[in-house]
Amino acid sequence: MKKKLETLEQLQDIDQLINILKNSQKGLNDELSDISQAVHLVREEVAAMEIRLAQLEKEKADLEENHATELANICRSETNMKEIKTNKEFQAVGREISAARKQVADLEEQMLLKISQIEELAGEVAVRKASLGELVENSANRAAEKQAEIDKIQLDIDSDTVRRDILTKEMPAALVKRYTTLRDQRRGQALAIARDGYCLGCNMHLPPQLYNNLFKHEELLACPHCQRMLVLKLQQ
Ligand SMILES: [Zn+2]
Repeated sequence: MKKKLETLEQLQDIDQLINILKNSQKGLNDELSDISQAVHLVREEVAAMEIRLAQLEKEKADLEENHATELANICRSETNMKEIKTNKEFQAVGREISAARKQVADLEEQMLLKISQIEELAGEVAVRKASLGELVENSANRAAEKQAEIDKIQLDIDSDTVRRDILTKEMPAALVKRYTTLRDQRRGQALAIARDGYCLGCNMHLPPQLYNNLFKHEELLACPHCQRMLVLKLQQ
């Protein structure tokens, strides 16, 4: 019986170790996804800036088109003027031309504004792209480091799993099943230490007869309160 309990204790130790290793793997995996998320965010930012830049270019092209049209209109009106016979018509066309010239001046002002907006944004895009490049390189290195750690931990998990398999093969299947069920139900702790008449798994007082029976090491005894299998340990 003592041997059985010792094996169960070893099994619990290995399981706790595997659990710790899996948790650190999970932490590293979270860090990995944080790294790629950070890159993703900057990429999206750059993409949004490029869309905005293309929009500004399109607006600039539209202004240029309008500008060219207005200039052509002025040119045509000036040609028409030569054909005009009446003063009234002459004045009307004159007004058209000066309105068109004002429009041209407005458009030129808007074009200049657009150009300066484009230059400013293009500068920002260039800076952001350069830092994205650095971030990508940096992240690739950091991700590779994290992955190496994850792989290293996996080797430990694999070797612990082999040790676990060897142990459980030596044990009666029913005992392994009981251990596994308890472990699932009791947050990874299928065994509990019994000391001074108490179960340290749930801190409840054990019935004296049960506690006394533990000293005989004849059978596997469970705490009546938390159902964990009891391991008698008189000292810490
Ligand atoms: Zn208990």
